[in-house]
Amino acid sequence: MSQMRLNQLTGRWVTIVAERARRPTDFAPRSDLQSFEADRPCPFCPGHEEATPPALETISAGGDWETRVIPNLYPAFQGDDGFAVHHDGPVHVMAEGTGIHEVFVYSRDHDASLDSLSDHAAAQFMLTLKRRFADHASITHIRYTQAIVNHGREAGASIAHPHGQLLGLPFVPGEVLDEERAFARFAGGCLLCTTVEAELATGDRIVFANDDVAVICPYWSGSPFELLIVPRRHDLHLQDADDESLASVGRALRDATAFLNKAIGDVAYNVGFHTAPHAHTGEYHWHIHVWPVLVTQAGFERGTGVLINIVPPEQAAETLRNAGSLSNA
Ligand SMILES: [Zn+2]
Ligand SMILES: [Zn+2]
Ligand SMILES: [Zn+2]
Repeated sequence: MSQMRLNQLTGRWVTIVAERARRPTDFAPRSDLQSFEADRPCPFCPGHEEATPPALETISAGGDWETRVIPNLYPAFQGDDGFAVHHDGPVHVMAEGTGIHEVFVYSRDHDASLDSLSDHAAAQFMLTLKRRFADHASITHIRYTQAIVNHGREAGASIAHPHGQLLGLPFVPGEVLDEERAFARFAGGCLLCTTVEAELATGDRIVFANDDVAVICPYWSGSPFELLIVPRRHDLHLQDADDESLASVGRALRDATAFLNKAIGDVAYNVGFHTAPHAHTGEYHWHIHVWPVLVTQAGFERGTGVLINIVPPEQAAETLRNAGSLSNA
């Protein structure tokens, strides 16, 4: 069982998961890791299904699975209890790390990644998220679900086989609370609907856009080639979106990562899916962040929270548009 502890200096929760450090791959240098992995069959490859806990959900076509959702063997959050906060003395505040931690394997192909998905697989990817989010939302003690994809070692992926993770949390994390407050503060309608309109008007930071989705290098990008993928239909929750819109967003995520790959090589990146907390009905508009891991946050960034970005988003968008037009030619 992991433990949540409140950082009283920031008001944000930290999760202590001691069991996870027992994984032999933890803290290993990259070169050791590769040789370690080479000796072991991949638990996510077809034929090794028994190496993982039984699947919670399997999507199959023609007898072969296309997507498997399985419990994480090393869960950071686990258990059915609600969020119970305990005080231990004058400043120590903790809670048990209850919740859900799932892995979804979105391709049978060990060497695939988001950028190489077929249209069908890209749609399946988003529809799987929709079903899991709806499932998590129906569980009383799950307040928010964070879906992520880590691509590449530098981005924290410990297994090379393409997969994402779903973390159902018994609390709403600070990052999402901050975004909710920004939506509430913004006076001119929906913050992200207005952002898309403003970006389409100039086009400077648009990577590409269609009737369903816009891919933007945000004006406020804090790191090189950061991307924001915004569905054009205004929905609070990812699970509110209709299937066609989700399929289109899936293809946009695939294309955005393919353009990155073409423009700057097979870089590591993190993908974060942001949706309104399950029971919330206030102002929000679900969206996807893509953060390429190209620089390390140093002392100034850690000390101030102020990011220094050496690639202006206008330049990043132009580079990605050019890569996109080459790949379409
Ligand atoms: Zn594999
Ligand atoms: Zn909106
Ligand atoms: Zn966000």
